[in-house]
Amino acid sequence: MAAEMRGAHAIQVEGLRVTFGDFVAIPNLTFTASYGEIHGVIGPNGAGKTTLLDVITGKTRPKEGTVLLDGKIDLRRLSEPQIALAGVGRKFQKPSVFEALSVRENLELALRLRAGSILSELRGWTDPRRAARVAEVLGETGLTDRADAPAGILAHGQKQWLEIGMLLMQRPKLLMLDEPVAGMTDSETSHTADLVRRLRAPDRAILVIEHDMAFVEEIATRVTVLHEGTPIFAGAMADARTDARVRDVYLGRH
Ligand code: ADP
Ligand code: MG
Repeated sequence: MAAEMRGAHAIQVEGLRVTFGDFVAIPNLTFTASYGEIHGVIGPNGAGKTTLLDVITGKTRPKEGTVLLDGKIDLRRLSEPQIALAGVGRKFQKPSVFEALSVRENLELALRLRAGSILSELRGWTDPRRAARVAEVLGETGLTDRADAPAGILAHGQKQWLEIGMLLMQRPKLLMLDEPVAGMTDSETSHTADLVRRLRAPDRAILVIEHDMAFVEEIATRVTVLHEGTPIFAGAMADARTDARVRDVYLGRH
């Protein structure tokens, strides 16, 4: 399955229009994210980055346009929980872990929430398999030695990694991170870059929203630059740096 998915579009947005009252946040956006890639979406504050994620997750309903998962699942017809179950995982800017529970318990809970609903395949999981998945994700997020600590005492960066871990428990095919390094120290930021790079997989598309170019440059394989809800650049990050329109927008000369 993984080989077939490589290069295919995980998410395909066409002719997207989003308005809030009279305000047009996204006039007409076409955007794709492919399996095996880490897509960066960058742009100044107010560019419409979070709005795009809100549309994909079903939180905001667009006026017009198509939003397809796997080129065939029409996300506009699904509810937010249905979209999550279809394989879309989204991390918000503010971490929302269960502070009184341990790191391990948070991860177990993330699996159970999903298993208890529709995914019957997981219901049959024996405890050793659950434990193995938890151990795997603890390793991936670098939280193995914090497994039994209450999530409430973790440093800000560790809480963010735990929340990414909670998303990973569900093996999302589309993983979306909104400003994952906001408020992090330099060392937490570089740990997060390592973590996100390790998450790249042929059967997973990763979408990272940031207004800071430097972090995206470290991790993204492709980048889209948004300005007032319109993509003004799509391509390699190295080329974005030297693009005249991108420079104007970032230097505030537009
Ligand atoms: P970004 O994440 O790129 O900083 P947003 O997607 O949050 O930008 O916002 C894009 C524009 O849409 C901004 O001008 C913002 O004020 C507006 N906006 C976003 N959500 C709402 C909303 N729920 N109601 C009204 N305006 C909104
Ligand atoms: Mg935002």
